Amino acid sequence: MAEINLSRIVKKYGDGFPAVNDVSLRIADGEFVILVGPSGSGKSTLLRMIVGLEDITDGELTIDGERANEKAPRDRGLAMVFQNYALYPHMTVFENIAFPLRLAKDLGEEEIRRKVEQAASMLELGEHLERKPANLSGGQRQRVAMGRAIVRDAKAFLFDEPLSNLDAKLRGQMRTEIARMQRRLGTTTVYVTHDQTEAMTLGDKVAVLKRGELQQYASPQELYDE
Ligand code: ADP
Ligand code: ADP
Repeated sequence: MAEINLSRIVKKYGDGFPAVNDVSLRIADGEFVILVGPSGSGKSTLLRMIVGLEDITDGELTIDGERANEKAPRDRGLAMVFQNYALYPHMTVFENIAFPLRLAKDLGEEEIRRKVEQAASMLELGEHLERKPANLSGGQRQRVAMGRAIVRDAKAFLFDEPLSNLDAKLRGQMRTEIARMQRRLGTTTVYVTHDQTEAMTLGDKVAVLKRGELQQYASPQELYDE
């Protein structure tokens, strides 16, 4: 579980207009926050700075009270959850979830099995460990992707427009899965979308970005009432 705090964050690429300009945001432990805004408003840049894929030009990022600006991505304890195309079609669910642990090479087979089974159970995938991704529903595939983050003990999930390439039916299914699992696990989540419906239905809070600036940060209900 993680509290993520952004204080006056700025990102400049070259000398142009800042991609992210003076954004302050407090994401409480366990909260589900949606970053919404038009294309080019800085959502992806902000997410990438949080996870450590992009340097912060100015301002401070803290994770659980510790300054994280200079921390390597793997030391931040956060996990990007990629879309289902990131699953390996020839591997079983078990092997897909175990993949990051095998890559890290610091756990024995017993411990890997224990972690994968525990994650699968939390995600209601325990019955499907020997299946291949092609034989899962879209929602189940989404949960396998989340399983990969869980086995690495991620303190927060970060999603970057996870549903943008999917058809409407699958999108609805995945949206439901993500919301359901986030509530069940209580993991802090930051979710980027340009879809207003997703923004208004999915999260506890919505951060609205425009031209790199934070326009609003409130619950969907508060935004709706305006
Ligand atoms: P969004 O995710 O809201 O679509 P981005 O964060 O991708 O917005 O982009 C914000 C602004 O920063 C845009 O003007 C974009 O062109 C610019 N930008 C993003 N990445 C880079 C980069 N690597 N180099 C230069 N400009 C970039
Ligand atoms: P997204 O907004 O979903 O991140 P984009 O298509 O805007 O997707 O960006 C894809 C990649 O290109 C990203 O790595 C981004 O940082 C980079 N990028 C975006 N805008 C620019 C830009 N103006 N100059 C250089 N790189 C850019």
